[in-house]
Amino acid sequence: MSIFSKIAEGEIPSYKCAENDEFYAFLDINPLVKGHTLVIPRREVDYIFDMEDDEIARFQVFAKKVAIAIKKAFPCIKVGQAVLGLEVPHAHIHLVPMQSEKDMIFSNEKLSLPADEMKSIADAIYSEFKKL
Ligand code: 5GP
Repeated sequence: MSIFSKIAEGEIPSYKCAENDEFYAFLDINPLVKGHTLVIPRREVDYIFDMEDDEIARFQVFAKKVAIAIKKAFPCIKVGQAVLGLEVPHAHIHLVPMQSEKDMIFSNEKLSLPADEMKSIADAIYSEFKKL
């Protein structure tokens, strides 16, 4: 089982931002900026572009809702979306609230935030997600 499957199953703790039966969203453990969120399918698939058309469409619609929730919780110019997948072999979308283009540079130094702050960031996003 991939590390992200274990996260979606609750076997490994995470800061939950949103979920439904098929998809799960949680804070990146080493965020580029506050609110940097990962969105995953619960089904194990490594490469996002191996997903079937209907599944990737539902995945993107779910990610859109998460992005809307992020923007409400953390006002920003736009929420950027990226797919890398070079580190963890389980498809995921990065959602990053941007104040500038530089916020999307993945080689930037990552943040390491205290647990209570991570929890309050995730709770703020989840609270907005539940209103959608
Ligand atoms: P990528 O596979 O897209 O290149 O990078 C994987 C991302 O997942 C990185 O931004 C990294 O910080 C994040 N990540 C890796 N392991 C964990 C983990 O165990 N928990 C969480 N919340 N994020 C992780």
